[in-house]
This record gives sequence, structure tokens and C-alpha cells, in this order.
Amino acid sequence: MAKVNKIAILTSGGDAPGMNAAIRAVVRSALSHGLEVYAVYEGYAGLIENNIHKMDRSSVSNIINRGGTILGTARLPEFADDEVAMKGVENLKKLGIDCLVAIGGDGTYRGVLKLHNFGINCIGIPGTIDNDIASTEFTIGFDTAVNTAVDAIDKLRDTCNSHHRCSVIEVMGRYCGDIAYAAGVASGADLIITSETGYDEEEVMKFIEKAQEENKHRLLIVITEKVTNVAALANRIKTETGFDSRATILGHIQRGGNPSPFDRVLATRLGDAAVDKLMEGESGVCIGVFNNEIVCTPIPEALEMKKNIFRKYAIDTNNSVR
Ligand code: ATP
Repeated sequence: MAKVNKIAILTSGGDAPGMNAAIRAVVRSALSHGLEVYAVYEGYAGLIENNIHKMDRSSVSNIINRGGTILGTARLPEFADDEVAMKGVENLKKLGIDCLVAIGGDGTYRGVLKLHNFGINCIGIPGTIDNDIASTEFTIGFDTAVNTAVDAIDKLRDTCNSHHRCSVIEVMGRYCGDIAYAAGVASGADLIITSETGYDEEEVMKFIEKAQEENKHRLLIVITEKVTNVAALANRIKTETGFDSRATILGHIQRGGNPSPFDRVLATRLGDAAVDKLMEGESGVCIGVFNNEIVCTPIPEALEMKKNIFRKYAIDTNNSVR
């Protein structure tokens, strides 16, 4: 066991449901090891501004079920600058804090690596709804976001059925189509389009015309953000086909809400494991889960890993989704 006395925790990048459950696990696990625990508020910005405060057991009461992050989060691109990051290191050292756990996405991991290189024992936990981190099968927040998207798409299905409409639904996942894939399959969407599948609007129009010939009277198309302008696509469908069409952008609704039980369990396991690894002297690594087993990956390797995406090409779910 490495000698660890004081540990700090922060959340960084976009928030994700389940971050609170991870914070709770880190705090409670660290306290049970006899460590002092500190909260860093507002991510790396709070670190350099010395927004660091001691926590106790009750600091994390009643949060396992809450979305967002009680610590707040921020984006501070300047943290990539060594001089800026050094301010954070000094603030930690002033308080005698030896270790830090950071919950966030790949940008947050780069911050972890920087702190590690400056001598702070530091570990990353994957917290981001997009599931875009290759060193884990699931990130904290992904399952909740999928549940939120499915709930919304189910509702759109009802009204699309009534009005014989084609609904074009934009979900999050700019660089990773996992939300679109999982929500699309679970809600029985007719077509799923992601950054990985590529986008050919003429093919989409052909798909819709064929569906019309087959007398389909309702269509659900799920698309990840930034692939195309969904409002313009819905407008074209309305103008050029017999379908009335509407675009719905689910947006930040996917980032909020109570975490699903799956995310709470995942977050608790990852938080616990992060403290264990710090106690074992690990640093510059991130925690993840594969085949239900906890894994620990050096961050440089994690940042190089390519994600094993669910699906590589456009998905017509009426035929095969395998
Ligand atoms: P999300 O997936 O939700 O976007 P993320 O952690 O990838 O989460 P970013 O905004 O990319 O979100 O990164 C979070 C923070 O990590 C940044 O605001 C910055 O403070 C820090 N960070 C990002 N890149 C670096 C880097 N190269 N070196 C040091 N710190 C970095």
C-alpha cells in the first residue's frame, strides 16, 4: 500500500447522470480508508482558483439518485498550458493533498495526465453520456441518456402514428454513435444514422420513398448531432415525399435526470476501484469496465485506443441490426 493521506475529487467537461454516485463512492471509500477528502469545485478551473474544500460523510448524503454533479463542472482549455496547470499543483500541495480523482471525458483524462506528470497521483473515471471513451465498455451517464432518448422517441412514435408522420430525431454523440444506435434499436427506429455510418441524403430519400411504396404510414429516423441539419432534412421530406415530417432535437435533456440504476452501480464500482488503485500507488491511469470486470489502463494508451463501435454502416432496422 502506498502512503496516501489526503485525496481530492473533481468533475470536469460535460456533466453526466451518475457523476454524483461516483463522487459519493470515492468519498465514502476514501473515508473508510481513513483518508481526508477534499472537493474541488468547478473542475480544473476550481483547482487553479483554489476552490477546494474539505468533505465529510454527510457531504455526499442524498446524492446517489441525483443527476448533474454537486461539485459543478467547467471547461478550461488553458489547463493544457503547463504554467496554468502548475497553479493547480501548487494549490493541492499547499493543502498537503497527494491524490486526485477526476471524473470526465478524454479532455479530463489529458488533465489527469498533466497532473500525474507534475507529481500528483491522479486517476480518471469515465463520466460522459456519449460513451466515447475506448478504455471502457460503458461510461457513466450513457445508460441514462439512452433511457431518456428512448422515452422521448416512444412519445414521438405515438404522435407520428396518429398523424402519419416521419419523425427525424437528433440525439447526442458527435464522435460516437452509441446513443443513436442503442436508443434507435430500443425504440424500433426505422433508420439510424451516425458519424460512423456516414450520411448520404439521396439514399435517405430513396429509403423513405421505398417505405411509402410499402405503405408504411409512420417513420422514425434517429440521427446523431452534427451529421446534418435535421430541420432542413425534415423540410425536404415534407416537400418531396407524401410524409408530413418534423425534426426534434433532444439536446441537453439527454444530459439531465436521475441516473439509471445501471449508471449508479457502474459509478459506485468505478469510484470504489479508483480509490483502491490510488491506495495501491497507481497514477496516470483511468478506470473502466469490460465484460463486467474492472480494468485500469494507462491514460496515454487509453487516449490512443480506438473505440469498438457498435455498427459501421447505415442501419435500416427493418432488415437487420446485427
Ligand atoms: P466531454 O466528453 O463531456 O466533452 P471532456 O472531459 O472530454 O468531457 P473537455 O472540455 O474536452 O471535456 O475537457 C475537460 C477539461 O479538461 C478541459 O476544459 C480542460 O480544463 C482539461 N483539458 C482538456 N484537454 C487538456 C489537455 N490537453 N491538457 C490538460 N488539460 C486538458
